[in-house]
Amino acid sequence: MKELRCKDMKKGCGFVARGRTTQSVMSKTARHAKAAHGIEKMTAAMSRKARAAVHTV
Ligand SMILES: [Zn+2]
Repeated sequence: MKELRCKDMKKGCGFVARGRTTQSVMSKTARHAKAAHGIEKMTAAMSRKARAAVHTV
């Protein structure tokens, strides 16, 4: 299981994305970023940061 805690990128956010693969975690995070943080599309830099924050649980 992979996990990404939004607070690793956005301080104070309690959202945690979990999935079987990094890809599924990334797509959940992208949806959350749009809905909760108004980020229409994650930039390459944001994606890199998000990928780096994904860890195995
Ligand atoms: Zn968030």
